[in-house]
Amino acid sequence: MDKKNIDWSNLGFGYIPTDKRFVANFKNGAWDEGELTSDSMITMSECAGVLQYAQTIFEGMKAYTTEDGRIVTFRPDLNAQRFEESAKRLEMPVYPQDKFVEAIVETIKANKEFVPPYGSGATLYIRPYMFGISPVIGVKPAQDYQFRTFCTPVGPYFKGGAKPITIKISDFDRAAPHGTGHIKAGLNYAMSLHAIVTAHNEGFDENMYLDAATRTKVEETGGANFLFVTKDNKVVTPKSNSILPSITRRSLMYVAKEYLGLEVEEREVFKDELKDFAECGLCGTAAVISPVGKIVDHGEEICFPSGMEEMGPITKKLYETLTGIQMGRIEAPEGWLVEIK
Ligand SMILES: *Cc1c(COP(=O)(O)O)cnc(C)c1O
Repeated sequence: MDKKNIDWSNLGFGYIPTDKRFVANFKNGAWDEGELTSDSMITMSECAGVLQYAQTIFEGMKAYTTEDGRIVTFRPDLNAQRFEESAKRLEMPVYPQDKFVEAIVETIKANKEFVPPYGSGATLYIRPYMFGISPVIGVKPAQDYQFRTFCTPVGPYFKGGAKPITIKISDFDRAAPHGTGHIKAGLNYAMSLHAIVTAHNEGFDENMYLDAATRTKVEETGGANFLFVTKDNKVVTPKSNSILPSITRRSLMYVAKEYLGLEVEEREVFKDELKDFAECGLCGTAAVISPVGKIVDHGEEICFPSGMEEMGPITKKLYETLTGIQMGRIEAPEGWLVEIK
């Protein structure tokens, strides 16, 4: 297999169309078999449910080339499960979990030439999604849906080392207590755009959102969960019903406990205790972990002892262990890597 002629290590995080994508349609109450297509364009009604009332959900995952040259993807069964939760919450038909994983595998297989080589730092990002495609004008769920999966090669998240970022405590809320914060829906991102543009204009890299009800507890950023390390090396992550259950975060907590022998805790984390932590990181598929050096709360700075130059020592161990598992350098727990043959 020849790889595409792409300058892998200088790729950014943008959309580059690849050869094939997977499409399945839900019509008359049933999913069709679905197929791969070369057509990257979608034609739909001007009144499609997704265009009028934002009925759309998605997932994000990656494929990697391991040290020994295999192509693998990471825990797609968990993306399939989460996709089902998202569909149910937006009154969309469930795309069967086994078919979901099959679609991912088929899409990667059909675009093998776009899976970046081992050591390049680049990966193949995979985007499954589903949306209401039939016309909807009175507010109700669409009748027909389309499920698609495409992929796009993305560059190394950290070019020239993982520099800690500065985040602000946002004055906006991301998710309501009994809302949709726990599902992966486009609507959660649409309403976060103003908050992130505001933060960027003020010179911050990211927003920390607090719980909307009391504004005393840490939730997450627009697209990543928090991990904290206490001064006695306990790994803590916030617990809340309105946080998106990150697969990276759940995997890192497992790695902390089972590979590094650290104590782990999922519990409410109060804004007032941020100053007591030794390290802080953001976790998600894109970066695995982004170290946070500083949190600014309306002019008041909370600086972590790990500083602004490099990842804290525990964060670094977590990062190296999980990326080692994903790249096949460290033995993976049963079922974590699915090989694309
Ligand atoms: C996707 C996402 C994450 C990260 O989840 P992963 O499964 O680790 O990629 C975290 N927060 C939000 C809001 C997300 O949409």
